Amino acid sequence: MLANEFQRLPYQFAGMGPAGLPRWGQAHKDFMRTWFRRSIVIMGPSQEMPVFDSRVQADPQVRDYWGIPVARLSGLDHPHNIELCKHASDKAELWLKEAGAIRTVRRQKEQQWLSGGQHQAGTCRMGDDPKTSVVDKHCKLHDVDNVFVVDASVHVTNGGFNPVLTIMAIAYYASDYIKRTWRAGGLR
Ligand SMILES: Cc1cc2nc3c(=O)[nH]c(=O)nc-3n(C[C@H](O)[C@H](O)[C@H](O)COP(=O)(O)OP(=O)(O)OC[C@H]3O[C@@H](n4cnc5c(N)ncnc54)[C@H](O)[C@@H]3O)c2cc1C
Repeated sequence: MLANEFQRLPYQFAGMGPAGLPRWGQAHKDFMRTWFRRSIVIMGPSQEMPVFDSRVQADPQVRDYWGIPVARLSGLDHPHNIELCKHASDKAELWLKEAGAIRTVRRQKEQQWLSGGQHQAGTCRMGDDPKTSVVDKHCKLHDVDNVFVVDASVHVTNGGFNPVLTIMAIAYYASDYIKRTWRAGGLR
């Protein structure tokens, strides 16, 4: 899906200039005055490929002010994400040019980045095999009786769209299983 996504506030637009444009001074002011009210942004959500090395860990060395280990993120984007981004950028640019755009700026990823953001998921992946997953298909831990994980961490992949509805659907599904199994006296 590609969409003309959101009206950006000036401060959000300020970082959207072409590569090399300074974030201050006359050139920046000229860019904002000329383009802020004469631009649209075409974006598309996409499914980021899961990468095994993508992890959130407690840092073994760095601690915060209170002495608590800080979170350490690791793992780079899957190369497929770069290809997908290029493909979507090509299509978006074509759309804009056919609609009469006189200038286009591509904001596609050119290299692999540390993957992370506001749709964090997948830290306790669901699966049948305890060697490659943390919970079973009912969100129950493979290794410990009577412990269920019911949130975005069970996602095997985050899908192509925002995750909340999937999180809620899995929560209903797992709750139903707990209720039925509890009543039947079979929970362990
Ligand atoms: C700015 C932003 C915008 C977003 N926009 C969208 C959107 O438009 N659509 C969409 O679908 N998704 C959106 N998301 C993503 C979505 O909000 C998250 O994917 C989702 O909330 C994750 O659900 P969760 O239950 O796994 O984790 P959370 O919602 O983070 O829940 C974890 C809970 O555990 C609690 N907790 C943590 N540690 C402990 C502890 N030690 N003891 C007890 N409790 C603890 C926390 O207080 C929290 O209540 C957005 C996220 C952000 C940050």
